[in-house]
Amino acid sequence: GDFPIETDTIVIGAGPGGYVAAIRAAQLGQKVTIVEKGALGGVCLNVGCIPSKALLAASHRYEVAKHSEDMGISAEGVKVDFSKVQEFKNSVVNKLTGGVGSLLKGRKVEIAEGEAYFVDANNLKVMTDKASQTYTFKNAIIATGSRPIEIPNFKFGKRIIDSTGALALPEVPKKLVVVGGGYIGSELGTAYANFGTEVTILEGAKDILGGFEKQMTQIVKKGLKAKGVTIETEAMAKSAEETENGVTVTYEVKGETKTVEADYCLVTVGRRPNTNDIGLEELGVKLTDRGLIEVDKQGRSSVENIFAIGDIVAGPPLAHKASYEAKIAAEAIAGEKSEVDYLAIPAVCFTEPELATVGYTEAMAKEEGLEYKASKFPFAANGRALSINASEGFVKLISLKEDGLLIGAQVAGSGASDIIAELGLAIETGMTAEDMAMTIHAHPTLGEISMEAAEVALGHPIHTM
Ligand code: FAD
Repeated sequence: GDFPIETDTIVIGAGPGGYVAAIRAAQLGQKVTIVEKGALGGVCLNVGCIPSKALLAASHRYEVAKHSEDMGISAEGVKVDFSKVQEFKNSVVNKLTGGVGSLLKGRKVEIAEGEAYFVDANNLKVMTDKASQTYTFKNAIIATGSRPIEIPNFKFGKRIIDSTGALALPEVPKKLVVVGGGYIGSELGTAYANFGTEVTILEGAKDILGGFEKQMTQIVKKGLKAKGVTIETEAMAKSAEETENGVTVTYEVKGETKTVEADYCLVTVGRRPNTNDIGLEELGVKLTDRGLIEVDKQGRSSVENIFAIGDIVAGPPLAHKASYEAKIAAEAIAGEKSEVDYLAIPAVCFTEPELATVGYTEAMAKEEGLEYKASKFPFAANGRALSINASEGFVKLISLKEDGLLIGAQVAGSGASDIIAELGLAIETGMTAEDMAMTIHAHPTLGEISMEAAEVALGHPIHTM
């Protein structure tokens, strides 16, 4: 018989949303169960953020080993053993997912393996091939994440692959076509281009990396082209046909039909929320027309005791957003007044060089009619940037004209993913351009670029006119 197991809070999905929610709820004294049908860590740890960064890092080592002539270094016989690269990547994933398991157990969170389905607003079934177990809960946090979108005429198979397939290729392909020049396509394109693959990126829009400013994407485009990547913009991918040893991709660009052959065609045109097939309709949980769950500032859905976080709610589908919302939802369930505030949420693209943004962009500030100042400082005028041979890029700060309050920042350049952290902190804590300019930054560091951009805002930069 299926005797229900009672729990306080049940979490569905163990990605960066779900596992963080489970830990936070347990810290707040709840009896917690987490349901996962796949692997602990979700997309991010298993087939997303982490493995993609491991591949990028390995590919970067290879690229740097081969091409540092301008610093007086030349190397011969540099080789890639791709199965060892995959082993390295997998070992990183395993360490982290194992860590998630230990953390959950350490907090006495029950891990229920299987697929969750809501029976009603207090009961949920967890099903495996063999059995079904009902859980009775007081509150639920849904964190089921998202999956790649499949487009017509590009049916995923051996040669037409999604990001998960691209992370697990058995060999370095000679040629790779990437449909969709968003951050996932651009990052994976960068990694394989570094490994020596001839990469073609097909982007339907006017430019790759749509979310970022043109000044920033131009720098990445230049970097990709220098690696031999072909970028076709305003290119509509029409179809892909698997051949014996590869794939032929047909696309249309400016009224002209073209084809390109490759070993693989990676399709990264967006992701769809996993909100169907879990019983939400019957529960009365309201969805938007894109299938996202409607929630308030605490993550509460239209059904009072059911919360939703991460890729299945509005906002940028990023791991740190999922984890942030997770803590808020768990705290709300515990009766705390926590609410989301997305102003200082960063977004990073791990191309070469990296791009990062936090808070307002100029376009956003304009749209809201804010009286703002944009101040920029180039990497090329920074001693550290020059000495590590990374002089491409800039830091831009957006501050209010009235009082200098920092409301946004963009970084294009080496180390942008780390530089953005300080700028996020400055915005989150309500610092002004003067505070940033008066903060002593160690010399020579890339952090000084942010300090000098703040001096530009004040009108008295030292290392530029
Ligand atoms: P997920 O991580 O998708 O986890 C959801 C979990 O729920 C899954 O494990 C799934 O198996 C489980 N599940 C679903 N339905 C059920 C069910 N019915 N029953 C039980 N379990 C279920 N983000 C960044 O911030 N930085 C990056 O650098 C970055 N790189 C990325 C690279 C790639 C290639 C990809 C694909 C994504 C990347 N992302 C990155 C995005 C990031 O992975 C997601 O935003 C993040 O994983 C979302 O977390 P989540 O908890 O909402 O869902």
